[in-house]
Amino acid sequence: MEDVRQGWLDGNPDHCGRTDPRPSRPFRIILLGAPGAGKGTQAELLTDRLRACQLSTGDVFREARCASSIALSTVMRDAMDAMTAGKLVPDETVIDLVRERVHCLICSYGFILDGFPRTVSQAEALDEMLADQDLVVDVVLNYSLPVESVVRRLSGRRTCRSCKTTFHVETKPPKVEGICDKCGGALYQREDDTAESIRVRLTAYEESTSPLAAYYEAKGLLCTVSAEGDAGEVFNRTLSALEERFGALPV
Ligand code: AMP
Repeated sequence: MEDVRQGWLDGNPDHCGRTDPRPSRPFRIILLGAPGAGKGTQAELLTDRLRACQLSTGDVFREARCASSIALSTVMRDAMDAMTAGKLVPDETVIDLVRERVHCLICSYGFILDGFPRTVSQAEALDEMLADQDLVVDVVLNYSLPVESVVRRLSGRRTCRSCKTTFHVETKPPKVEGICDKCGGALYQREDDTAESIRVRLTAYEESTSPLAAYYEAKGLLCTVSAEGDAGEVFNRTLSALEERFGALPV
């Protein structure tokens, strides 16, 4: 799946050469929820289970930031500044970025969208992109978590620079402080996981992203899942919610 992810990150469809068996039915799923609700982790688990690709706009911006700053366009540099401050990147930039990667959206393996759409305008743009291909979203999983839990999770989060695995200083500490258990890479605290950025991100979420729940509720697509507990518990709830809606999931 590494090439598939690379195709999304750099927007080059040549990197997506999937040959693994196609699932008996593709799932096209959007994950909503405040930062820290665990969308990224659930997206990874769903990717393994359903074989749809995890597409995260936040990952694309982080990847761009790691690339040479000389290579960044002014638009991308402004996007990086917004991101570091915890603010949302302008809709136009995000929509252009997703449009450039439409091959990932229309892939017959399906998709798990994590972090996009984040505003109603982005959702409308996504609907248009999919409608042009006669595709629709199957379900929108909305992960709910009280604010205190969000702040606790985000401020203790540490991420591996190499393989992106996440840890938590209290609830999932690495065996050796600062070192990834999986690949030995260095762990870091995301610049936007500081107390001030978390506050700004939560405000952005309340103002821009929570109206999306109403947007998808009106379309009959919203399915709310409690994000309390560990990743395995939340994943079990996620699978139950999907089975309730779609029947037995493909093996
Ligand atoms: P995430 O990893 O999804 O929390 O995204 C990290 C940051 O990237 C966000 O705080 C935003 O600055 C930016 N970002 C990612 N996706 C979007 C989006 N769909 N709309 C606007 N900004 C985004």
